[in-house]
Amino acid sequence: MSIAKNFAAVKHLGFENIEFNMKSIKKEHDTDIYREQIALAASGLKCLTLHSATLHVKDAIEIHQAVYYGKISLECARALHVPLMTIHSNVSKKLPSNIREKCLDEIFNVEIKPFAKKLGIKLALENLSFTSTGFAKNVEGLEDVLSVIDDGDMGITFDFCHALETKETDHLLDKYGGRVCNVHMADKAHKPFTEPKPELLAFLARLQKYEYKGPITLELAHDSSMEEIAKSKALFDKLLKSF
Ligand SMILES: [Zn+2]
Repeated sequence: MSIAKNFAAVKHLGFENIEFNMKSIKKEHDTDIYREQIALAASGLKCLTLHSATLHVKDAIEIHQAVYYGKISLECARALHVPLMTIHSNVSKKLPSNIREKCLDEIFNVEIKPFAKKLGIKLALENLSFTSTGFAKNVEGLEDVLSVIDDGDMGITFDFCHALETKETDHLLDKYGGRVCNVHMADKAHKPFTEPKPELLAFLARLQKYEYKGPITLELAHDSSMEEIAKSKALFDKLLKSF
């Protein structure tokens, strides 16, 4: 489906805002950001966040490519006037810790962060699930990454689906509740929530305690039907009325 058709479908479902995921751009089009810019403007949607293209570096030689992915994502974020970009730790957990540190330092401290700063785009590190080859599924893993790349202004993208899968919701909220600036919302396996399950209500109540005002991004599996998405949207419209 073309970008324009996707935006039209999202608009048709009644959404006003989107998160743009770089996954939706084919490699051969990844410098063609004006196509996305024009389609977004035509759709009337607002893009609140952008999900960076990510490459989980398995060898230091791949640093350059990871930097390219990050920078091209930032260029796209600039074109779409997006203030926040979600990032992954980008470095495989299978690498020895000294090499992992060197990769994180070169990718983020030397390249991505200064470029993001120049463009005025905030970065937010996402908690991952256990299937990820990255290294940030729990507090220990996130701290491992943040200890190298954070100088106090790194935000957190809280992926509730991943937190449910890793059973880390409470630990992650205890540590990062006040730093969350984007929420990826879905049930396990990125299935849409269509019922107010207790764990969902508990999570939203905790977010509210932290006076969370950022986006709740429905980040759903590709095979979710339009009916399910509409049902999920209706549920959140209702639940978020008190926010
Ligand atoms: Zn996510």
